[in-house]
Amino acid sequence: MDPKVEQFMAMIKAKNPAQPEFHQAVHEVAESLIPFIEENPKYKHAKILERMTEPERIIIFRVPWINDKGGVEINRGFRVEMNSAIGPYKGGLRFHPTVNLGILKFLAFEQVLKNSLTTLPMGGGKGGSDFDPKGKSDNEVMRFCQSFMTELQRHIGPDTDVPAGDIGVGGREIGYMFGQYKRIRNEFTGVLTGKALEWGGSLIRPEATGYGAVYFAQEMLNTKGDSLEGKTVAVSGSGNVAQFTTQKVNELGGKVVTLSDSGGFIHDPNGIDDEKLAWVMDLKNIRRGRISEYAQKYSCEYYEGKRPWGIPCDVAFPSATENEVNKEDAEVLVKNGCKVISEGANMPSTPDAIEIYQNNKLLYGPGKAANAGGVAVSGLEMTQNSMRLPWSREEVDQRLQTIMKNIHASCVEFGTESGGYINYVNGANIGGFVKIANAMLAQGVV
Ligand code: NDP
Repeated sequence: MDPKVEQFMAMIKAKNPAQPEFHQAVHEVAESLIPFIEENPKYKHAKILERMTEPERIIIFRVPWINDKGGVEINRGFRVEMNSAIGPYKGGLRFHPTVNLGILKFLAFEQVLKNSLTTLPMGGGKGGSDFDPKGKSDNEVMRFCQSFMTELQRHIGPDTDVPAGDIGVGGREIGYMFGQYKRIRNEFTGVLTGKALEWGGSLIRPEATGYGAVYFAQEMLNTKGDSLEGKTVAVSGSGNVAQFTTQKVNELGGKVVTLSDSGGFIHDPNGIDDEKLAWVMDLKNIRRGRISEYAQKYSCEYYEGKRPWGIPCDVAFPSATENEVNKEDAEVLVKNGCKVISEGANMPSTPDAIEIYQNNKLLYGPGKAANAGGVAVSGLEMTQNSMRLPWSREEVDQRLQTIMKNIHASCVEFGTESGGYINYVNGANIGGFVKIANAMLAQGVV
C-alpha cells in the first residue's frame, strides 16, 4: 500500500473505530485521490480530504412508537450531514435492522462524491434507522415514520437537507414521513424526494436508479462498440433498483435470469420478461412476499441462502446491498465470461472483488457512478418542486440519460490509464472530488 494512503487510513481508523464499512469506502477513495492530491498541493494544504471524511454534523435520536399490541418499541434514528459545499445535504434514508453509524457514514461519504458527479447542486448526507419494516403492519410503519419525522423535521428543510428513500424506504414510507413533516411545520415543500406524483413527485423517480445503472452499462459497452442486445444478465435484489434494472434490460433486448432477496435467489433461464416482472412487483411492493414464491409460480430453481453470481452471465447488476460480491464470486463471474459489472447497489463489491474485475479488464462501473441516476432524478424532482411545474416522462428520462452520459464521460476523462483501460473507480472518485474541493477552497476553512 502507498505509505501516504496507509498513514491516512491509520488516522481514519483511530478517529472512527469499529466502523469497517466507513473505513472500506474511505480507503477506496483515498487510493484514487491521494496520488491526485499530491500532484495538486492546493488541496493538500487545505486538508480537503481530511475535512471531507469528517461529517459536518451527525444527529442521533430516540424513535419511540407503539406496536399493534399496544406495546412500546424503541428504535434509533440517524442523520449524517456529511458535506454541504455544493448544495443542501441530499441522500436517502435506510430502514433495516443492520443500520448503524458506520454504515450510514460510508453511505453519506459515497453520496457526497456521487452527487457531485451528477453535476446538480446537491451536497451529501444519509440517514435511517435500525427499524425493520418486514412483518410490520401498515399502521405500525406509519406510527414509526411519524415518530421518526417528529424529531427529524427540526433538522431538515428544502434548502437545508432533503432526504429520500433507500433500502426499506419506498413510496409508502416517504408518504407517511411527508405527511408528518407537513403537519408539524405547516408547510408544503419539497423536503423529501421520491414523493408520489399527485403530491410533488417526479415521473421516472422510482425507475431512475435501475434505469440509470442500465444506461451506464450501455455507455460502458459502447466504448467497445457493443450493446445489451442479446446479453444474459444477472441481477441481485428484487427491490426498487433490481425491478427497474430488469425492466430497462428487457426493453434494450437483454435477458435477466436471476433475482434475489435476503433469503436466496431464483434462476429463470427463460428470462424474467415484463409479465413475470409485473408479478414480482406485486409480490414485493404490495404483498410483501419472498422471492422463493417466484420459483413455485414459474417452475424454476430457487437457491436458499445463496447469491446469484455462480450463474453464467455477460453482464451483472449487483442491486441488493453492500459487500454482496466477494473475491470468490468475482472469480466465478470472470470464469463464466462476465464482461460488465454495473453496480445498482452501494459498495456491493468487496475490495478484493474489485481487484479481480480490474486485473481482468472488465468494464466495471462502481456504484457512485453507475447508480447516481436515482439521486440525479431526485435533484430534478427538487427543481420541479421549486418551479412548481412538473416535467413530462420524456423530458425527465432525456435528462437522466444525458446525466448518465456525462458521468460516464467524466469517468473516462479522469480514469483512462496509459494503456487505454478505463479505471472507472479512479474516474468517479477524482471526477466527483474536484468540484467539491474547489468549492471548499473558495468557501474558506469552514
Ligand atoms: P429495497 O429495499 O427496495 O430492496 C432491497 C433488496 O435487497 C431486497 O430485495 C432485499 O431483500 C435485498 N437485501 C437487502 N439487504 C440485504 C442483505 N443484507 N442481504 C441480501 N439481500 C438484501 O432497496 P433498493 O432497491 O432501494 O436499494 C438496493 C441498493 O441500491 C442499496 O444498496 C441502496 O443503497 C442502493 N441504492 C438505492 C437507490 C434508490 O434510489 N432506491 C439509489 C442508489 C443506490 P429483503 O427484502 O429480503 O430484505
